[in-house]
Amino acid sequence: MLPEIVIIGRPNVGKSTLFNRLVGKKLALVDDQPGVTRDRRLGKAELLGLHFQIVDTAGYEDEDPETLPGRMRRQTEQAVATARAALFVFDARAGITPLDEEIARWLRTTKTPIILMGNKAEGRAADGGLMESYSLGLGEPIAFSAEHGVGLAELFDALRPLI
Ligand code: GDP
Ligand code: MG
Repeated sequence: MLPEIVIIGRPNVGKSTLFNRLVGKKLALVDDQPGVTRDRRLGKAELLGLHFQIVDTAGYEDEDPETLPGRMRRQTEQAVATARAALFVFDARAGITPLDEEIARWLRTTKTPIILMGNKAEGRAADGGLMESYSLGLGEPIAFSAEHGVGLAELFDALRPLI
């Protein structure tokens, strides 16, 4: 059985774009509107010869985390707890938001290895957000661009010891 890697993060950071890039097909719905991914999506992923199952989650896809349906959040937390590793994606152009901090606070309490990914980092506009992300207490971010394929080798290096 392939190890399971789960993608987590607030809406619109590029989780589904990352999922699509790793799966190589347009399986996950990508949209400018948050909240498009309504359930978990599974796919077989390949990254520079590494093979794993990838899970695109939607448990934090709600504008107001206080009104988040508990069932969806529990499903996401369950997915992280049982995964080999979690890819925590933030928007490096937008910088760190309160919801990023809330997710990070919870992720720091899990035993699952977390790989921090600053997405949309195809230009200098991401530099500030990447610096800010050290405050999340989850280590060094990978400067990534799901859309442009930047940072794939760094993601490979982070995943290889875990798979
Ligand atoms: P999700 O809500 O986290 O699943 O995010 P999506 O994958 O649906 O992407 C949200 C928006 O960000 C879309 O408009 C994507 O085209 C855009 N996006 C995703 N990855 C990148 C990237 O690497 N760079 C830039 N500039 N935009 C991206
Ligand atoms: Mg999505």
